[in-house]
Amino acid sequence: MLDWQDGQPFSNRFSDIYFSHDSGIKEKRHVYLEGNRLPERFSLLSGRESFSIGETGFGTGLNFISTWQLFDQVTMPGCSLDFFSVEKYPLDDNELESVLSLWPVLQQYAEKLRAKWRRRVPGWNRWSFSGGRIRLTLVIGDVLDAITEVRGGVDAWFLDGFSPVRNPEMWTQPVFMEIARKSRPGATFSTYTCAGSVRRGLEQAGFQVFKSPGFGSKREMLQGRLSGQVSARSSISNAIVIGGGLAGCAAASAFAMRGVSVTLIEGAPALASAASGNPRGILHLRLNAGMNPLQRFLLASYGHGLAWLDDKLPVDGIARAECGELQLAFSVQEEKRINQLAGLDWPAHLLHRVNAEEASRLAGIKLEYGGLWFPSGGWLVPPVLCAALARTAGIEQRTGYQVESIRGVDGGWSVAGKDALQQTWSYDAQVVVVCTGYQIKSFTQLSHLPVTPVRGQISLVPASSRSKNLRTIVCAKGYFSPSFQGKHMLGATHGFNDDTVDLRASDHVENLSKLAGISSSLANSVMAEKFGGRASVRASVPGAMPLVGGLLPGLYVSLGHGTRGIITSGLSGELIAAMACRQILPLPKTVVNALSPAPAMG
Ligand code: SAM
Repeated sequence: MLDWQDGQPFSNRFSDIYFSHDSGIKEKRHVYLEGNRLPERFSLLSGRESFSIGETGFGTGLNFISTWQLFDQVTMPGCSLDFFSVEKYPLDDNELESVLSLWPVLQQYAEKLRAKWRRRVPGWNRWSFSGGRIRLTLVIGDVLDAITEVRGGVDAWFLDGFSPVRNPEMWTQPVFMEIARKSRPGATFSTYTCAGSVRRGLEQAGFQVFKSPGFGSKREMLQGRLSGQVSARSSISNAIVIGGGLAGCAAASAFAMRGVSVTLIEGAPALASAASGNPRGILHLRLNAGMNPLQRFLLASYGHGLAWLDDKLPVDGIARAECGELQLAFSVQEEKRINQLAGLDWPAHLLHRVNAEEASRLAGIKLEYGGLWFPSGGWLVPPVLCAALARTAGIEQRTGYQVESIRGVDGGWSVAGKDALQQTWSYDAQVVVVCTGYQIKSFTQLSHLPVTPVRGQISLVPASSRSKNLRTIVCAKGYFSPSFQGKHMLGATHGFNDDTVDLRASDHVENLSKLAGISSSLANSVMAEKFGGRASVRASVPGAMPLVGGLLPGLYVSLGHGTRGIITSGLSGELIAAMACRQILPLPKTVVNALSPAPAMG
């Protein structure tokens, strides 16, 4: 798709350039950074204030990394930037690399962007850079859909579609109206074009528009402003997170990365004691072809989760492995799901169809079925991830602290309970986030939520001479992981409305039957009498959509992640922290509403 003209990137689809031939980098600074007075506005930010930019047309990311560099140069530590952008035709990894290599002065930023780029998924992507100081929300999709779905106000807009004549859908009246609707009072825009239709359209949407000197050979460009007083957007200063499993640790880390002081409270003597305490968890994305809010949430969570884990728990083969995952077409129904999915337009780095021969080659053992191959699938050790998240600067851990009540007080919430020595304690904060899995009935504000326990037992299977060759995770009705320290993980059972955690031989038998569904010869090769394992209780919600969001002002929940917490916890924590700090949300409105535990608050 990307072509080159005179050493500069060019779009064949739109017959237009991505940036000026004179000097892309200087053009971007002139038109967008200075055109929105960002050097001055950034330098005025203080404390934990955040600023947000919206862009139409991410293209090569040059605007994004130029803005990031400026933000680094002129803002105080503690401030943060949200950059929201949309791109319908993303460059591939090689194209991005070759374009960004044109700007040696921006290499340190370009490299970081490229590392996240390889994790992109269709739809909504949320990546954090510089320890959370920069948040990029990149929607891979159409401009109008993306801006209609964004939540959280924008302070400055970069209108950077291809020329209005060649790329008219980027410059329509509905797009301008939506831009104005998603702006904060006093928001500005700038654009290289000074087409009359753009000027009139933005005026009609409510902007005061004026012409200013353009860059290089362009005589004029447009700038504009909405009326209203610009107000600082300061975040909250403290929060309490209840629950030290993955959902709680991820939420605590997301707040701490925004400079919020967090008290992380866990009733058990250690973090990750319940469902997040399994010796391994699987990064498993199960999709259907119909993209309902749950599917969109899972896809965004998977993309976010991979990029987030790269920062929090890099692949080392011990705490995390990226061995890939095969989802086998083991039944007529699964074959149908897999074929429908594979028929959609996916980037190959995310998933693709493989036949039985390719599947066997990838897995390192003979498999009877083909299916879907997820190259980035893998496993990780959840307690190690929890510990890494809880080490984020700004989090104070309180383990062995049993919560007995949550009470609204002036300006926030008070949480009280007893410690392991039966001493009473209480903490106050502006925000409380409850991440206690199915254990919510004792909190009066939450007791109506439809969260139920689901017992799950995994089996730890000593490797056989045949099974030890397995190189990837393989899923059919259950999943089987490659052996690590001589053991495979095989799972898992689902005991609805059962909150017991005893280890049962009958559950091992059930897991073994799942292994037989993956490969009967694998199942025959392992010694069932030597199975070990662990049972724990997950929290489930009817319909499988977790409950993530605000229940009452300042009271949030992240509950009901079921078997998917490994991929959904990270983005859920990010969503709640962005809500509480009044920043750009990392998910589209439709998904945010579907996750909401109080739909009216959405
Ligand atoms: N801001 C970019 C940069 O810094 O490199 C340059 C953007 S380029 C001039 C315009 C971009 O808009 C292209 O990457 C193009 O694929 C994208 N685009 C065109 N039509 C679109 C649409 N309907 N929705 C979203 N993106 C679109």
